[in-house]
Amino acid sequence: MVNTRKQVPNGRLGAALIGIAVLVLTAPSAVRARGGQGTGASMLAQPNFEAPGGGEVNLQVTAGERAIVTTDYWTMEYDLRRGGVLDSIVFTHGSGRNLLVEPFRTFVDQWSDANAPQVSLHSSKEGNILRLEFSGRMTAADRKAGPVAFETTWTLSPFVVRADHKISFPEDLRVSSVGVASTAVRSDLGEFGLRVGPADDANERKECLATFGTTRSGGARLIDEHHAPIYMQFFNRGVEGFGLSMTSDLATWENGLTGKSGVGHYAASVSEDGGSILIVRKPLRVTAPVKVPKGEYVFSYYLGLPRIVEKADRKWRHIGFDAHPFPSDDEIRKWAESGVNIVRQDSEYYGDENFWHDGTWPPFDEKGMKELRRVIATCHRYKILVVPYFSLQELHPSAPGYAQHAQEWARTMGEVETMYHNFSPEDYKLFNYGSDYAGKGEYGAQMCPMSAWPEKLKNDVERAYRELGFDGIFYDWADTEPCNNKKHNPKLHSGIDGLIDMLAWTRRLIGPNGVLIVHQYGLKASISLENFADLVVNMEEIADRDVALRPDNIPVTTLLAESLPRSPCPNYLRSENLERNRQNIAVLVLYGMFPWAGPPWDTGETEVETLKLFRAFKPYQLETYRLHSPLSGAVHTAWEDVYGAVYAGPEQALVVISNTSREPRKRAIWTVRPEDLGFVSATKRFTVKDTKTSTVQTLPFSGLQDGSLETQLEGYEYRLFEVRSAD
Ligand SMILES: [Zn+2]
Repeated sequence: MVNTRKQVPNGRLGAALIGIAVLVLTAPSAVRARGGQGTGASMLAQPNFEAPGGGEVNLQVTAGERAIVTTDYWTMEYDLRRGGVLDSIVFTHGSGRNLLVEPFRTFVDQWSDANAPQVSLHSSKEGNILRLEFSGRMTAADRKAGPVAFETTWTLSPFVVRADHKISFPEDLRVSSVGVASTAVRSDLGEFGLRVGPADDANERKECLATFGTTRSGGARLIDEHHAPIYMQFFNRGVEGFGLSMTSDLATWENGLTGKSGVGHYAASVSEDGGSILIVRKPLRVTAPVKVPKGEYVFSYYLGLPRIVEKADRKWRHIGFDAHPFPSDDEIRKWAESGVNIVRQDSEYYGDENFWHDGTWPPFDEKGMKELRRVIATCHRYKILVVPYFSLQELHPSAPGYAQHAQEWARTMGEVETMYHNFSPEDYKLFNYGSDYAGKGEYGAQMCPMSAWPEKLKNDVERAYRELGFDGIFYDWADTEPCNNKKHNPKLHSGIDGLIDMLAWTRRLIGPNGVLIVHQYGLKASISLENFADLVVNMEEIADRDVALRPDNIPVTTLLAESLPRSPCPNYLRSENLERNRQNIAVLVLYGMFPWAGPPWDTGETEVETLKLFRAFKPYQLETYRLHSPLSGAVHTAWEDVYGAVYAGPEQALVVISNTSREPRKRAIWTVRPEDLGFVSATKRFTVKDTKTSTVQTLPFSGLQDGSLETQLEGYEYRLFEVRSAD
């Protein structure tokens, strides 16, 4: 029996609740974090970042002046005349300009690392991981050193950058302000995202879903929190951006200095002159000084730097399949003919319980396993890669180890240690998230990546990978959640360190040629986590909503910048499924995003549309083309809902003209900027071939912009035009 999906927002790929998200966004802070004992030092071991495939990381030091770190994606610079503070972040394939207007500055009242005239630097390198340690005394503006010492450790890899700021108080001190890596960035990074800390999330599940906003008006407040947020992000849509994500040790940020919670200030605001955005991260900000006990305090965060490139590796055409039924050899052949090159064995809940329950082995009965092996072998014959679904945070109650360990491994929040079970959409309403229900109707209970749970997960992943001959792994729930389960760590923490460790481990398992697909739920998406992926599945946060996707309302975390290729979720709604997905594709084709299709969400019609999209691009190696999306202004049309984009290659360009409305557009005049075609025509004459009708027009240079180019589009139709130099 196949379940009929209802329109409820609890999709398999990252089951967050949109309905509750609305509550989170508007409800006042109703729950306060417990005060902790400020012992200071991080309780959590650092993850192992080692992972192949990201390229090199290099250090160049000019003694006493600058330390410069470069990767294929970015350059960061540290000022050795100012305490070794980070004062420059430049993305090679972003704007090429420094993001920072002010350096990252750490301070205790009047003493700051940025005033320290002397700093010692130790560096070491292992594989593609570089470690920099800056240490010195915090100093006042008059260059007099104060009592507080600092030791800042940067761990840098092409995938992930982490900073650990150790502040040492040699004695009890009364202070009113402690800031860690506060900075100012260019105001064009004015589109921001915020995941508040659990104290500011009124929802019982404490998923801390992100909110987004944008402004560049002078004096505007973007973020203004007293509790440590899970992360802040700042973007210039489509160009560049970055994230500041707390490490797992949220407790030190929240109450580490004084034992009191809610005494910090985490904020972002546009400067009065509109020229920059001030970013403040203060674990302590009080009006009257308070005692900070003698000791060492370590404040740690990940600096999320996207892997921005000139041309995204846009080669993946990805869909899903499951056991209801397993696809026939004939279907697989049709996939291959359409250009599908990677498929995901999905583990969607079905009422007959015939699905891969998280944490179980073997996932199917003997007949099912035989079928799975057949599908994998047939896919391989057609050069289609196959990856299994794994949830990074769910364990099904029927799985071995659950009865013995689930309470200890679980993610819980608060005193009562209630486990969070993720139910199928049908049962969500029926059981109202009852905590004692374990068995039918659920995907599993949430586990915490900072418990011993990842050790079991690693065993499960490795066994499936090796015994079934998969080509990589698909991870759902690659997002960080807060936890304070006393059975593994009573201090407030999040799962991010454990997730990074898991993702890096997976890259080591599958090697540089294995494919890692990571799902990023848009309201929890993290640059530091998605960076480990070859392909990012996203947009599920709008998949169950009846929202018409338009070129100007794509979620910013979906678009981010030209970096990792993205495979958005199709629209899951049963009603108007075909229309919503045709509309999605009409928009996504302009941004180089190829959505997945597959059961059980799609009625079959969506897969037809998706495969049609794949076939349209099959003749081209899109990873060798550079995309100029509608944001670039490369193409202009006279209809407000007809958009264009250019995929620019060295020999030819593909111009896509797409009608994002359901109304046919009989005459759509379009123009394209010659300089965005990617090649130079010596003859100054061009051919433009409509790939649908195969008609070819030959034009002089001026013809690209004078209105000579015209097409006709049905509702949601997109057409590809090959533009070449004429002989
Ligand atoms: Zn935990």
